[in-house]
Amino acid sequence: MQTVTNWSLRIAHLYSNVMNIYGDRGNTIALQYRAQLHGIQCQISKIEKGEEFEPHNFDIVVIGGGQDREQEYIGTDLARHSQSLMHAVEDGQPMLAVCGGFQLFGKSYEKANGQKITGLGIFDIESIHPGENTKRCIGNVLLQTDFGEVVGFENHGGRSYLAKTQKPFGTVITGNGNNSEDNYEGAQTHNAIGTYLHGSLLPRNPKITDFMLETALHRKYNKDITLPTLKNLIEEAAHKNARARTLKNH
Ligand code: GLN
Repeated sequence: MQTVTNWSLRIAHLYSNVMNIYGDRGNTIALQYRAQLHGIQCQISKIEKGEEFEPHNFDIVVIGGGQDREQEYIGTDLARHSQSLMHAVEDGQPMLAVCGGFQLFGKSYEKANGQKITGLGIFDIESIHPGENTKRCIGNVLLQTDFGEVVGFENHGGRSYLAKTQKPFGTVITGNGNNSEDNYEGAQTHNAIGTYLHGSLLPRNPKITDFMLETALHRKYNKDITLPTLKNLIEEAAHKNARARTLKNH
C-alpha cells in the first residue's frame, strides 16, 4: 500500500453557481475532505458558464442538479465541452453528474415545456419531463449498486430511460429511480456515474467517494492504489440514519 505523501488532485466543479440545487456542492466538499484525511492535496476549481475548461487539466469532474431553466441556461455552454468530456470518460476519468447534470450528460433532456436540450451523450439515456402537472419523483431513496447499498434524496420531474446497453448506476430498493417503472436508477459509463440522488450523495456514501479518489490517483500516478480504511464514524451514522428513514416510509 503506497504511503500517501505528496499526491495532489484537481477537481473541476462545473457550473457550481448554477447547478447546485439541494446542496449538491456537498459532493466536492466530501471529495476534498476525504482526500485531505488521506494526506492528499485537493484543489477545487469552479468552472462557470463561458469559461475555458479542459477535462485533461483535472482529475475529477463533478456537476450538480438544477431546475429546467438552469439547465437551459448552461446547456449550450456545456455542449462546447462535449468531445473533450466524452474523451475523458472513455479514458477512465471519474465523474459524478447529479440529477439535472445527469440528464444533460445523457443524449437529451426534454423540459416540462416541451423544449429539448441536446446532451453530451456520455450516458445512453433519453430524459423527458412529462409536464408540470405530473407528480414529481420526490423522497428518500435506497439503491443496490456495485458499491453496496446507497442512500440519497430525489426531487425530479424528468424521467430517464436507459438504452438496452447502458449500465444503470443501481437498482431501486425504495424510491422512484429513473422513471418509477423499470426499477433502474442513474447510469454508469466507465468511471462516470450519473444519478438522481441529492443529499448530497457522497458525504453519506463514502465508498463512492473513495472509489472516485482511488480511480483518479491510479489514473494520474499510474499506480494501483488502495487508500487506507478510514473510521467513517460520521459517514456511516449519516448513511444508517438515511437508510432507516427511507425504510420507515415503505
Ligand atoms: N429540472 C430537472 C427535473 O425536474 C432536474 C431537477 C434537479 O436537478 N433536481 O427533472
